[in-house]
Amino acid sequence: MQSISRRGFVISAAAAGAAFGLDGPLEFIGSAFAQSNPALLDKGFVKFKVGDVEVTQIYDGIWNRELQDGFVRNAALAEVQAALKAAGLAETIVPIPFTVTAVTIGGNTTLIDAGTGVPGQVQPTAGLASAKNLAAAGIDAGRIENIVVSHFHPDHIFGLMAKDSTAEVFPKATVHVPAPELAWWTGPSVPQPAQGLANRIKATLGAWKSIKPFEGDKEVVAGIRSIATPGHTPGHTSYHVGSGAQQLIIQGDLTNIPALFVRNPGWHAVFDVDAALAEATRRRMFDRAIADKATITGYHYGLPGAGTLAKDGSGYVFTAMSV
Ligand SMILES: [Zn+2]
Repeated sequence: MQSISRRGFVISAAAAGAAFGLDGPLEFIGSAFAQSNPALLDKGFVKFKVGDVEVTQIYDGIWNRELQDGFVRNAALAEVQAALKAAGLAETIVPIPFTVTAVTIGGNTTLIDAGTGVPGQVQPTAGLASAKNLAAAGIDAGRIENIVVSHFHPDHIFGLMAKDSTAEVFPKATVHVPAPELAWWTGPSVPQPAQGLANRIKATLGAWKSIKPFEGDKEVVAGIRSIATPGHTPGHTSYHVGSGAQQLIIQGDLTNIPALFVRNPGWHAVFDVDAALAEATRRRMFDRAIADKATITGYHYGLPGAGTLAKDGSGYVFTAMSV
């Protein structure tokens, strides 16, 4: 047994295999060090198994956002700075990684969200999924038949569309989208600052024949079930694969980076459309994941970006797997 930090622990490979359905040895590293593993970022992807489901997480880059007052609407700047510092991060920058999850079931690979597009489409320091990391992970964009979408923020959907036109990037794919999300972005309630994005969505997802809306909790693609998790956006949706002790919940943006928002589930990020609803949804889903001993992953959790949650005082702690 290696030394155990306050928020970190190591368990045997056998126990981990039982918990996660993993074949190889792995250890868990503490949340303070889980933002990203540089060697994995170079490689560009991680693969692991949940039962019979092969999971691939593809790194799409990072947005190093300057921390400003108001980033967390209901916490003082000094509190946010202290939380970053406690996680071993710089106090002036919120490092927001982008990570696309793909699941392969019965030989069919489905993407959950599509990345940020080409470099510069959302951020100059993102776009690595389309530029190289999908291919590095052995995923051929031209053969993808299904993509399921968590919500319509640019970092999740711009990978579906060409940078300067309304052309589709995945020619064979049916794009499954939550009906309430499509209705909201193409409806009258989008606030003025987001009108540009709404117009882009209307011209692309709102018009494409490849779009297949679905309602509520259902099996969207064989083996992939939706879980309505509204708040971050009105139609925000998480996804679930596996069963029993071998479950993965692909959260989407129930939280932004763990160092701030898993530690402090009551904190309201500036990105949430309905922050109070987002918080209630987050707490409900976190408690479900803990009760079910499910593996979880978040779009902004970096690499390795899957692991487990546990209660920790007034918040939670995310413990990433290391593969
Ligand atoms: Zn996001």
